Amino acid sequence: MRYLILSDIHANSAAFQAVLADARGQYDKVLNCGDLVGYGPDPSEVLETWRSLDGVIVRGNHDKAVAGFADLEWFNEVARKSVEWTARQLSEEQIRWLAELPQGPVQVDGFTLVHGAPFDEDEYIIDSFDVRHAAPSLTTGLTFFGHTHLQAAFELNPHGIRNVPQPEFPVDERSTFLVNPGSVGQPRDRDARAAYALYESEIGIVSLRRAEYDIQQVHRRVVEAGLPEVLALRLYRGS
Ligand code: ZN
Repeated sequence: MRYLILSDIHANSAAFQAVLADARGQYDKVLNCGDLVGYGPDPSEVLETWRSLDGVIVRGNHDKAVAGFADLEWFNEVARKSVEWTARQLSEEQIRWLAELPQGPVQVDGFTLVHGAPFDEDEYIIDSFDVRHAAPSLTTGLTFFGHTHLQAAFELNPHGIRNVPQPEFPVDERSTFLVNPGSVGQPRDRDARAAYALYESEIGIVSLRRAEYDIQQVHRRVVEAGLPEVLALRLYRGS
């Protein structure tokens, strides 16, 4: 089976469409590590596009917040404004659907999807220290996660933990892998292109990919929507 793995689309429809176009014909099923909405100007469109793909998703902290499950005191002011704005753009039915999204970890075909960390959906895995902390709660040899908006792959084995340097790599059964496909709609790794991953389970190959999209168009949509402009400006920097 060939999987397209997405995370942190964050209501950026232009980036989402660019990724679907870039990956066209290269996957059989779509998976998502959460945060469909929040920050971006197209929550309803992104939610409906996602639903039309019939994929598997775990909820993210923004999905949870828009559905009314999170304490907004934990969000900074810009994030809180975008959560409140997003909730006003969605229908009651769409909000109910968000509220019913499963909390990770969710297993698919012998690997795992989580939003933040396997032991806590709201925790961040950024570096090898975090990977070591998460290791005892990993239940499969391969786990996909999001939340940090940083595209990365970590390999753990008895020799230690390393950042896999190449964008395409084999999932060696003697190691455990934690892979972040990166953020589709709001990358924070200084690469403004939309990030995603492909995983071909029969041959055990993961590919970390990027796709260009029209950021200026999203910038205009953010301004028209009355969202904080900083949410568009950061897209140009990928930060
Ligand atoms: Zn996110």
